Amino acid sequence: MSEHESWRSSGLQAWKTRVRSLAGEASEAYLQQVDDPAQLTLAAYADVRMQRWSDGRVLAIGDCAHAMSPQLGQGANMALIDAAALADALGNAGDQH
Ligand SMILES: Cc1cc2nc3c(=O)[nH]c(=O)nc-3n(C[C@H](O)[C@H](O)[C@H](O)COP(=O)(O)OP(=O)(O)OC[C@H]3O[C@@H](n4cnc5c(N)ncnc54)[C@H](O)[C@@H]3O)c2cc1C
Repeated sequence: MSEHESWRSSGLQAWKTRVRSLAGEASEAYLQQVDDPAQLTLAAYADVRMQRWSDGRVLAIGDCAHAMSPQLGQGANMALIDAAALADALGNAGDQH
């Protein structure tokens, strides 16, 4: 049985108990609005795990190097940090590349 099927068969009250244990009182107003599993949407994601970061003069940065769940709200930040770090490294490397 998949994790999602197991979640559905456990029922909404079991899920609410779990959410309360993780988020406490902060979750209560939200939980009171949910009375049917159909109100919730399953979001599934795959991790990107690179075996190497570059191939010759081609370098992976941003989502193609480390895509992550949109809910984390960090993908754009990390892509910009990658670009800034790459620009710094190239600037410091002078003319050798
Ligand atoms: C629904 C959703 C919500 C998100 N919310 C947030 C958020 O709140 N905060 C946050 O920081 N991040 C968020 N992200 C993640 C963020 O959008 C990405 O991490 C970020 O855009 C990655 O930038 P990138 O330049 O690596 O890739 P991308 O932005 O995907 O840019 C890649 C570009 O390459 C182009 N391209 C692809 N193939 C080719 C090709 N063969 N030739 C030429 N061009 C090509 C594509 O068209 C695209 O324009 C969210 C993502 C999603 C899906």
